[in-house]
Amino acid sequence: MELNIEVDKKSGFCYGVVKAIEKAEEHLKERGHLYSLGSIVHNNTELERLRTRGMEVIDHKGMEKLKDTVLFIRAHGEPPESYNLAQDNNLTLIDCTCPVVLRLQQRIREQYELLKPVNGQLLIFGKRGHAEVNGLIGQVDGDAIVIENEGDLALVDFKRAVAIFSQTTKDPQQYDKICRLIEEKIKEAGSPPEFFCSFNTICGQVSSRHPHLKKFAQKHSVIIFVTGRESSNGRILFESCLSANSRSYSIEKPDEIEEDWFTDGDSVGVCGATSTPMWLLKEVAQYISENI
Ligand code: SF4
Repeated sequence: MELNIEVDKKSGFCYGVVKAIEKAEEHLKERGHLYSLGSIVHNNTELERLRTRGMEVIDHKGMEKLKDTVLFIRAHGEPPESYNLAQDNNLTLIDCTCPVVLRLQQRIREQYELLKPVNGQLLIFGKRGHAEVNGLIGQVDGDAIVIENEGDLALVDFKRAVAIFSQTTKDPQQYDKICRLIEEKIKEAGSPPEFFCSFNTICGQVSSRHPHLKKFAQKHSVIIFVTGRESSNGRILFESCLSANSRSYSIEKPDEIEEDWFTDGDSVGVCGATSTPMWLLKEVAQYISENI
């Protein structure tokens, strides 16, 4: 089939993930083995590549049994308990918490100190159980309400002050929508507008990709979006592509691509999430050009 294929130059890992992988690979080159607390990226193909180089993913239960060794902390960050446990178990940390997440953790601690004396509530717009969200809640000993959707606003008392932060990878439009709803509810409850404080802490690396991907998707007749199924950031960014181009397909690996997605003369755009490596995007483009 005659196809014109373009790989999006602005896709590929965000700088937080690039830095984390560089550090991990540096250590793996020297020592040949490294424990990682959780998966470094939500992308199985990249995880498999690192596994063959000696990276071993463990969970928090596994960490409890680990002693006197080196442990890698990924870009999502961790709650303080993980650092305490690392100290108790004599673990040397390669801490690759993204600076953007570290700053967010600090802002949450600061805001919590202001909310406490006025009986305020701290809200986090994010995915319950997501590693980054667990790390954020841990900053305030779990005293925060996670808002995944409108329905979760029922957990909030709008007669009390409210401050909301966002998980770094959320959709900016959804965040705005939640904030507008909170404003309305504060008003309905008869509370003053000052009772509501919003901190848009969505990472610039993510928020700038939404308008860019929409443009990229409009430019092409077919979009192949590459992402790990576990990646929440991938799901949200794919929605942006789909809203701009109904012939958008989300895949994890090249062999998931189907021939009947394409017609002769199509212009094909290949792009991905912040956790999708550029080498995989290029591999997908090559697969299309050789097999379709
Ligand atoms: S998306 Fe942003 S906050 Fe998350 S790891 Fe990448 S650079 Fe850091």
